[in-house]
Amino acid sequence: MREIHEECGVFGVYQAPGAATLAYYGLHSLQHRGQEGAGIAVSDGKDLLLHKGHGLVTDVFDQSALQALPGCNAIGHVRYATQGGEEMENVQPLVARGSMGSLAAVHNGQIVNAAALRSELEAQGHIFHASSDSEIILHLIQCEKGPLIEKIKKACRRLEGAFAFLILTEKSLYVIRDRHGLRPLSLGYLEGGFLVSSETCAFETVGGTFWRDVQPGEIVKFSRAGIEFCYYTDQNEHTLCSMEYIYFARPDSNLDGLNVHSVRKKTGRLMAEKDAGLLEADIVVGVPDSSLSAATGYSEASGLPCEMGLVKNRYVGRTFIEPTQQQREMGVRMKLAVNRKVVEGKRIVLIDDSLVRGTTLRRTVQQLKEAGAEKVHVRIASPQYCFPCFYGVDTATREELISARLSARELCEYLHADSLRFLTVDDLKKAYGHDRLCFSCFSGQYVTDLYDHADALR
Ligand code: SF4
Repeated sequence: MREIHEECGVFGVYQAPGAATLAYYGLHSLQHRGQEGAGIAVSDGKDLLLHKGHGLVTDVFDQSALQALPGCNAIGHVRYATQGGEEMENVQPLVARGSMGSLAAVHNGQIVNAAALRSELEAQGHIFHASSDSEIILHLIQCEKGPLIEKIKKACRRLEGAFAFLILTEKSLYVIRDRHGLRPLSLGYLEGGFLVSSETCAFETVGGTFWRDVQPGEIVKFSRAGIEFCYYTDQNEHTLCSMEYIYFARPDSNLDGLNVHSVRKKTGRLMAEKDAGLLEADIVVGVPDSSLSAATGYSEASGLPCEMGLVKNRYVGRTFIEPTQQQREMGVRMKLAVNRKVVEGKRIVLIDDSLVRGTTLRRTVQQLKEAGAEKVHVRIASPQYCFPCFYGVDTATREELISARLSARELCEYLHADSLRFLTVDDLKKAYGHDRLCFSCFSGQYVTDLYDHADALR
């Protein structure tokens, strides 16, 4: 349920003709990760060219914009603003031109010590063009000495938090993943060239093939000399964001070797096993789209039919702020409609992937009951989301999180549900088959020090 927003998506192309067009289609496949801005920078071997703007990939680019971006190397970005405002300066790629040549950078994630680094750099005379944290790496690189790869390594050692960076120069492409592996990043290839993407689903779209995931702390350099692999630190751990599996990633993506749809199905099965013999129901309904896989798993394990009790309208604009309550309610129904014939008189198991702010799910339960549902038993395919994320997801304060304020029983009452159950972190580990993931927003045990955000939990 779209109550929280993805961070961003990055896509890169090295040594493939029509790189900008490939990046365009790659970004299109990552559109679910950010809808506020999009951009592509290309290198024609001599210079970097850039086009970016606000809105969806299809709003920002047309044929002529892509034709104005010749070259075989490209990086692209789709943005949801977790850091920095909506100004054009914050739309990526960010480009820096200096004595070291030109660099373009795209970033997915959030740097948790950005404020301290920025103050330090500004005190040294650095002038920032954007207010987001992503520009910091370009300034840190400028401060260092030696070959670019060494400068990048040193810069990365100063950064804490979540980052998947692509850095394009006139001749090379650098691919970097933070030492915790918080945000996903994969390598692919296509005839004669290489691809990089936040999610593997984008490789399929451009006719590419998945190669392997970038490892935590790894830097991959593509250049005319070949491909170089190295690490900026040996203090690496694998803590990929578990919300990528639960909610952010597309079901046809594979993250660290696990298919997102299959993992979500497993969480649905686990919920059904917990309810076995305890719950009487007629149908399973998943909240579209990200909960449909878990609903399928619940249905298979429980033997209850999975029905399309809710229908999502995909063509609703991003913002509509109506002046009256009646218009607001119509707006909600326009986004998510109830299939009355399906739900009328039924005892429903309603599956949602996560409960963050709770307002949308509350309305959905209400809609189902107004349409004649006899019972609505809510099952959440993740634990209670009690702590804010500082790694690139827009849940900045605990007050915004309904599970931080209400007990499970109070939540059930708030939702007007007939029962409510969550999965636990241990259930998630069982579904994934390992525990090498970030569960910070469920447990409050953060995988890094919080630096700029340490006060946010007090
Ligand atoms: S805190 Fe939650 S949303 Fe943020 S990276 Fe960790 S698991 Fe993902």
